Amino acid sequence: MSSVPIENPGLFVADEPLVWDLLPAGQQPCWDDHPAYPATRRALLRAAPLVLPAEVAELRRSLAVVAAGQARLLQIGDCAESLAEQSAEHLTSKVSVLDTLGDLLAARTGQEVVRVGRLGGQFAKPRSAPTERHGDLELPVFRGHLVNSEEPTPEARRHDPRRMLLAHQAGLRVFDHLRRLRRERATAGLRRSTPGPWGSHEALIIDYEGPLVRPASDGGAEYLASTHLPWIGERTRQLDSAHVEMMATVQNPLACKIGPTARPGEVVRLCELLDPERTPGRLTLILRFGRDHVAEVMPDLVDAVHRAGHPVIWLTDPMHGNTVRTVGGTKTRHLRAIAEEAAEFLRVLEQRGLHAGGLHLETAATDVTECLGGNIRDERALHRRYETLCDPRLNPEQAHDLIEMLFPS
Ligand code: PEP
Ligand code: MN
Repeated sequence: MSSVPIENPGLFVADEPLVWDLLPAGQQPCWDDHPAYPATRRALLRAAPLVLPAEVAELRRSLAVVAAGQARLLQIGDCAESLAEQSAEHLTSKVSVLDTLGDLLAARTGQEVVRVGRLGGQFAKPRSAPTERHGDLELPVFRGHLVNSEEPTPEARRHDPRRMLLAHQAGLRVFDHLRRLRRERATAGLRRSTPGPWGSHEALIIDYEGPLVRPASDGGAEYLASTHLPWIGERTRQLDSAHVEMMATVQNPLACKIGPTARPGEVVRLCELLDPERTPGRLTLILRFGRDHVAEVMPDLVDAVHRAGHPVIWLTDPMHGNTVRTVGGTKTRHLRAIAEEAAEFLRVLEQRGLHAGGLHLETAATDVTECLGGNIRDERALHRRYETLCDPRLNPEQAHDLIEMLFPS
């Protein structure tokens, strides 16, 4: 039994541009002239919502508890989800890692942990360059399975709008599964509050997210029906961007990545746009400065946001500022740098008497060999199971080690 309606009236007329289509947006696919584009857009405008207003409201209430310092947040998963890894077994093992690490964090902090996966929509990636070389070929970069495919051929790298419908289909299965799990857990009375599991992804592709902005059933503010917790990436958080405008419109809880070049005043303005009412649980800031910048950049930024009265959840993403290449050119991250950045994040907040909301990590559900440290001792081990579609992920044991290091018993 599913409470999700099959069809949703949608908000918009198919052939008219949505508000966000007219605003500047970086990192978008080039597919407007694809023959399947108009039909795909119409299909998305009519497509079933993946999540429901009541779910979004429930997660907001759980996150308000985190913002108040009474619980923690753990957000983990693939850098880029794969459309080829959508079986029930894949999903079960991803949720199982989320639960195991959530239980560990709960045990170490003595607080309930809200569990959020990078799941059910993490199919689109911002990239630093539009093309890359493969031998003699200059090819468009891989931008996530919602846009193109990773194989290095011109055909596979072509941006194809029909992929949005594949992503939506995969999302439907994921969010149904998560809904079933939350219900089972609530029925079994396993926990007082609902720590999840919930879904999240970077709301990057305006052509996908826009048609999934839907009216709430109670006539209240619109909500984004593509995920529970959307976030704005470091590369698309400009104050006048389509991404910020769209996220400001919807009532979901939101997150925004903040990198080392962000100025405190700019982040305060972002908070003002995304959470003008200063509602605990509405806004999470995910800090991804890099080990070498965190001590210098974080204090002024935290002070400015705090002084402006924004009750944000402070989350650390200690991975995206710590990506390096081996001599052989393999992208990797060192567990030590990750741990040092996260430890400094905890220190800065503790010095101010502020609550460390939790962690945002790129983790795999399997024993991949993508990051160095812990059970991956040297660079020669990296090639054994280097399987990521994009950034290097921690394997479950490395993530476990990290949480133990940060929160010793
Ligand atoms: C990511 O989370 O995979 C990502 C691209 O992050 P950021 O926007 O922080 O670079
Ligand atoms: Mn990433």
